[in-house]
Amino acid sequence: MSRAKRGDVRAVLKWLARVFPAPGDLRWKLVWDRELKGSYAECDWETRQLHLDDRYPTEVVISNLMHEWAHVRDRREHDGNLVEHHDNTFYLELGRIERRYMEEGGAVEVGEIS
Ligand SMILES: [Zn+2]
Repeated sequence: MSRAKRGDVRAVLKWLARVFPAPGDLRWKLVWDRELKGSYAECDWETRQLHLDDRYPTEVVISNLMHEWAHVRDRREHDGNLVEHHDNTFYLELGRIERRYMEEGGAVEVGEIS
């Protein structure tokens, strides 16, 4: 199994931040992390870091990144706490991201067209 190309994953994060901005348009950083327990990826709200394990193929890591980005975009308040859900609203957001990514390949420089 080949490892992820970090540059390709970083390019997708740049694309995500432009096309699907994070709340408050805040900047999130990628952290390569091989110590994740029980998951392939995590988002840390205190540090605004996305933890990804790069021992998986590029497509898998990009898919994990989009999943975490949907959490970043979709985090909601529930009983006074901010929580992450895997409910229909979450998957609707993830679907929007994945569909646009399939159309644009995550590499199209939309800003250059105008
Ligand atoms: Zn999740």
